[in-house]
Amino acid sequence: MHLIKSNFMVCLVCPKSCILNITGNLENISVKNNECNNGLDFVKKELMDPERILTSTMRVNSGIIPLVSVRSDKPVKKAELMVLVKQLDSIVVPAPIFSGQILVSALGENKVNIIATRIIEKQENNYI
Ligand code: SF4
Repeated sequence: MHLIKSNFMVCLVCPKSCILNITGNLENISVKNNECNNGLDFVKKELMDPERILTSTMRVNSGIIPLVSVRSDKPVKKAELMVLVKQLDSIVVPAPIFSGQILVSALGENKVNIIATRIIEKQENNYI
């Protein structure tokens, strides 16, 4: 049985950002100050199996700038975040890149797609 001391957590589900007061143990969690039941579900997920949207950058070949900002289309396991970011570090994607373009498919345990969040135009002029 895992005991939880009285603890506070900000609910990230909606912009109200309720400051949740958590007591009890993992089998019997008590949450106060939540304005809806999503707060309780959020706390359970955070304590048992936290996930986050991955945000990072990837290297671009022949683009007008060398990096493109990216994010995952679904949350990934928090414990897996840095492993996946390192995998993205080893990949170079060719310009042009379109906002919303899938750059990597089925990554990690949750099989997320990594999508570009901005346009990167191809560098047309080569002055060498
Ligand atoms: S508890 Fe409900 S109302 Fe409060 S931030 Fe979470 S989802 Fe929003």
